[in-house]
Amino acid sequence: MNRRKFIAAVGTFAVATPFVGAISSCASETKVFQGHFFPELGYSYDALEPYIDAMTMEIHYSRHHKAYFDNFLKAAEGTDMLTTPMPEIFSRMSSYPESVRNNGGGYYNHSLFWEIMTPEKNEISPAFKSAIEQDLGSFDEFKKLFGSAARSQFGSGWAWLSVDSNGKLFVSSTPNQDNPLMDVAEKKGTPVLGLDVWEHAYYLKYQNLRGDYVDNFWNLVNWNAVEERFKKTRV
Ligand code: MN
Repeated sequence: MNRRKFIAAVGTFAVATPFVGAISSCASETKVFQGHFFPELGYSYDALEPYIDAMTMEIHYSRHHKAYFDNFLKAAEGTDMLTTPMPEIFSRMSSYPESVRNNGGGYYNHSLFWEIMTPEKNEISPAFKSAIEQDLGSFDEFKKLFGSAARSQFGSGWAWLSVDSNGKLFVSSTPNQDNPLMDVAEKKGTPVLGLDVWEHAYYLKYQNLRGDYVDNFWNLVNWNAVEERFKKTRV
């Protein structure tokens, strides 16, 4: 299936919101930006058990993520960053102080992370699966690539599935709280799926067994949310 056909296919799912509408709402996203916010967690701390334990979730969300958010706001105080969407800030990352890179990255990355997980079993749609197959060979090959990016990221960081400027999906990893939106990233694009491989994300339950945490992540992926993000890149 080519990309245009994919767009037509996913467009038919959105009966209430035609795909054309999705494009215009995406384009206007920047205009309606109303400031930065600490997102609500869409599920309880224990909802992702047994794959991610409740204590890890509570500490990760209410302390780590909150600290990134608060520290980003401190760094942004009195600047136009307060009224600038994160992707725009990331596109000029190298011109901002290190504290914005670390805390702005941590704020954005975790907001994405909570959203692309769900306790509810769900399957990837045939249309999105086709898009992955087209760009990455097969769905299994994609999972292998992503898993290997997550396992082999040395020290703290993230594994990503992103869309590049040509609309092509690719897998990469970034150190610390970097992400593919940043001008400092080796491979640049818009992330649609991300996995936190900092030890704080898994150590209480998995200790040094990062690979088991990575394997179990597939039980938690919210494919609808990932596909929504993917569709928003199709402008
Ligand atoms: Mn984290």
